[in-house]
Amino acid sequence: MQLHNTLTGQIDDFIPQTPERVTLYTCGPTVYSEPLIGNWVAYLRWDLLVRTLRANGYTVERVMNITDVGHLVSDGDEGEDKMQKGARREGTTAWEVADRYTNRFLEGMTQLNLLPPEVLSKATEHIQEQIDLIKTLETKGHTYVIDDGVYFDTKTFPTYADFAHLDLEAMRAGARVEFNAEKRNPSDFALWKFSPENEQRDMEWDSPWGKGFPGWHIECSAMAIKYLGETLDIHTGGIDHIPVHHTNEIAQSEAATGKRFANYWLHANFLLVNGTKISKSLQNGFTLSDLDNKGFTPMDFRMFVLQSHYRTESNFTWDNLSAAASRLARWKAVAALRHQTHDTLVDDDDKEHDVNGKLLAAKHVILEALNNDLNSPQALSVIDQALDAVDQARLAHIRHDAFEELLMFIDDSLGLQLLEATPDLSDEHKQLILERTRVREEKDWKRSDELRDQLSHAGIGLNDTSDGTRWYYL
Ligand code: AMP
Ligand code: ZN
Repeated sequence: MQLHNTLTGQIDDFIPQTPERVTLYTCGPTVYSEPLIGNWVAYLRWDLLVRTLRANGYTVERVMNITDVGHLVSDGDEGEDKMQKGARREGTTAWEVADRYTNRFLEGMTQLNLLPPEVLSKATEHIQEQIDLIKTLETKGHTYVIDDGVYFDTKTFPTYADFAHLDLEAMRAGARVEFNAEKRNPSDFALWKFSPENEQRDMEWDSPWGKGFPGWHIECSAMAIKYLGETLDIHTGGIDHIPVHHTNEIAQSEAATGKRFANYWLHANFLLVNGTKISKSLQNGFTLSDLDNKGFTPMDFRMFVLQSHYRTESNFTWDNLSAAASRLARWKAVAALRHQTHDTLVDDDDKEHDVNGKLLAAKHVILEALNNDLNSPQALSVIDQALDAVDQARLAHIRHDAFEELLMFIDDSLGLQLLEATPDLSDEHKQLILERTRVREEKDWKRSDELRDQLSHAGIGLNDTSDGTRWYYL
């Protein structure tokens, strides 16, 4: 496999530390409001990565965090805690907000058929690990304490600027007036924030430095190291994480362990809506419920996401989603043909070798596309061609097992649930189709139309072709 690695700035061959096992950490959601389609894009991208790794025979051990504390409104340790903000908005506590939106996130994961990570870990359940890591950093001389918290001194980590190619001098020169004057350097970041005096926070813990709560970045380092070890194979996130969150994760992890934190860093580009940036704060994003209200399924959205490469900026419009839904509908119509093929070839002439050969070859070509830095648009066009070949062949020329194997592979690697969406028809419906074929031979068009209507009410469409009548789900 080849993957674009932000650490090297190039496409690298992927070599895990242990030959058949991959350790993977994905920065997860901040659970303070409804997840938007922009957030889902990120998780769909990494779902494709896990599926591709598995298709290559790797066992994947993945940890994803749930940020339920510590993420301030600005990534630069300023402003209100997002959870507290959510609590204020909804007239409840930060704990309830965290619960509510963690559940929403889990529901969305199921709807989108996202593979569950091996470990889904909440920041609030790993406070001690975070405190321990800060203590290590303190012992090694990387921290200092000021009025509002314990900070990481980025000057003590000489390669701090490398990952994101930061210009620290420019940052210093451009530091805003409201920049916390007690911080030694503008790039220094909070490891532990103190609870404000005279204010009881919903979420706060005792620590060696005083009552408070962890900074946002420290949770990822603490949980990644706890579950996956000091060096990960792959770490993923959105491109927004590069200059602050991931830069800080690297600094604090590597300063503490003296080892490289992750060998491969993958970053997903952003989704725009109608060409404009979306964010929870601007409230111009849609949720999965919005899509549902317009008649689109989570799988339509998955198809839409797969149509673009994870490193390109993608653009959501209802027309684009419609186009993806049509493509998926067409795939499902062809997938239903597998029930109309046979285990053995009924009509064994030369043509069959053509289509079955194409089906077998397609699997390898799809994997090749995905192995090329997760080129999903390319994989989809290979599938279009293979399914066209099926559609154009006579059903008697298609080997049931070859076709089903390809569909299973597509489902495993892209998660589109083609098999699940296209079960075999009931005997009753099959009988109706046979009856319709018979009455058509007798030219009883009235009865034939009645049967078509009856099937159509049951959600079954019919195509009368020179190869006979084919059914599909409407
Ligand atoms: P948050 O829950 O705000 O911490 O964001 C969760 C994830 O969603 C992060 O990995 C972000 O990079 C990602 N994300 C947020 N907005 C978008 C967007 N418009 N397109 C793609 N990814 C996004
Ligand atoms: Zn993270």
